[in-house]
Amino acid sequence: MVRTVDTLGKAAYHNLLVVAECRQCGRRAKFLAEDLARYYYSDRKIRSLPFKCRECDAMDCKISLTEYLNDRTREVVVWRPMKIR
Ligand SMILES: [Zn+2]
Repeated sequence: MVRTVDTLGKAAYHNLLVVAECRQCGRRAKFLAEDLARYYYSDRKIRSLPFKCRECDAMDCKISLTEYLNDRTREVVVWRPMKIR
């Protein structure tokens, strides 16, 4: 299922999380696909998102999708995209 999801709109529809992992330092950040779809646009290809590592400033991030488990025993920290002017 996850394999056929290539745009933010589809990922949001399936309630997926977008995981960006830095190839340099291994730092991971999770985003709700729904947030990203609102921030960019739903036809945006997930692989083309410009993630940048906060730790080492590298643009070299591995992007993957994971299912959002609505499990109260597990806490998931997500980042929200925000525009600053
Ligand atoms: Zn990094």
